[in-house]
Amino acid sequence: MTDRLPGFDTLAIHAGAAPDAATGARATPIYQTTSFVFDDVDHAASLFGLQAFGNIYSRIGNPTCAVLEERVAALEGGTAALAVASGHAAEFLVFHTLLQPGDEFVAAKKLYGGSINQFNHAYKNFGWNVVWADPDDPATFEAAITPKTKAIFVESIANPGGVIVDLKAIAAIAKKHRIPFIVDNTMASPYLIRPFEHGADIIVHSATKFLGGHGNSIGGLIVDGGSFNFAGDDRYPALSKPRPEYGGMVLGETFGNFGFAIACRVLGLRDLGPALSPFNAFLILNGIETLPLRMQRHSDNALAVAEHLASHDKVSWVSYPGLRSDRYHNLAKQYCPKGAGAVFTFGLSGGYEAGVKLVSNLKLFSHLANIGDTRSLVIHPASTTHRQLTDDQKVQAGAGPEVVRLSIGLEDKDDLIDDLNNALDAA
Ligand SMILES: *Cc1c(COP(=O)(O)O)cnc(C)c1O
Repeated sequence: MTDRLPGFDTLAIHAGAAPDAATGARATPIYQTTSFVFDDVDHAASLFGLQAFGNIYSRIGNPTCAVLEERVAALEGGTAALAVASGHAAEFLVFHTLLQPGDEFVAAKKLYGGSINQFNHAYKNFGWNVVWADPDDPATFEAAITPKTKAIFVESIANPGGVIVDLKAIAAIAKKHRIPFIVDNTMASPYLIRPFEHGADIIVHSATKFLGGHGNSIGGLIVDGGSFNFAGDDRYPALSKPRPEYGGMVLGETFGNFGFAIACRVLGLRDLGPALSPFNAFLILNGIETLPLRMQRHSDNALAVAEHLASHDKVSWVSYPGLRSDRYHNLAKQYCPKGAGAVFTFGLSGGYEAGVKLVSNLKLFSHLANIGDTRSLVIHPASTTHRQLTDDQKVQAGAGPEVVRLSIGLEDKDDLIDDLNNALDAA
């Protein structure tokens, strides 16, 4: 063997996994157990005191979940990762580790609808205040920063589709103000975009989508980029102050460039509890083995469907950065040259009513609230995922009344185009 580093496709299959030490099992076993026997009393004490790494209880860590954590950390190029019960749990634990009551964070206003709700409403109960900025105009992030700003949050490719965010420009603002830059990389997956290479400090994923990839498991991940120095920084007491429950240990000092991931685990996951089940971790790991193949096919199919829709007379616009005419095409060439992903939106000349008719008449596309399945999916955001938002917020989030969102699957692209043609005729 030379000392060459394994490529992305190799890591997608092997990172974090080895034949099972006890049985030789080649696929990663599902360690379906709540708890793990200690060697002796001293071993137990050192595990509880964080002096040794090991398994205690599956709310805090589990060997199947640990393989998933190592795999995703390797694919993103981070120092460590934490698997949790959902994408929302990942976001929540990140903010819980960074924010105190009264703190602010700046977020891109084009986000997954659930994140907009979480930030606007649920987080208010914790005294965490979101300030919205325009991902198309990085200067608005800088303008929104105050002495209380503790984090900046964007999606790399923004839901409900078609927005490529200039990560480098926003990362430069975050660095200048010494604020951790969090990127939700769900829509791109590390196959299309690796945000740490563009200045992100922390990545979150809804593994429910492309990492799992088969529409069968809810899960989430937090990945620590190891780039933000929390030690000695009073603004982040979870990492910079002695922890009474761990004998006065300062997590950011003891664990250095993976201290953030440790803090999310030993404070967030331990105390708040949104653990991933080992069975879901197993399914997500299986999905990740084919991530490179799937993401390429998703992107190739999506481009073919987008090109077709762009020339259809019932379609007023198509927002897919893979299209040469798209306003984000140059950013797509810079950040995701292999493809612009599966998800995009288009507008129907017939407005809200036509959107409702289209989703009712599609046969191969499933009408549901998800993305990143092997199957092609459709939703009319204004009547579903984004319906709680005000009309203005809907438009701001890219979910106006005429907008339809597609998540293009892995079927034959000609069958997808045929299904859309028939449903557009009926609309
Ligand atoms: C789905 C999604 C989430 C939330 O993830 P869950 O697994 O559903 O909790 C967060 N961000 C983005 C971009 C998503 O698509």
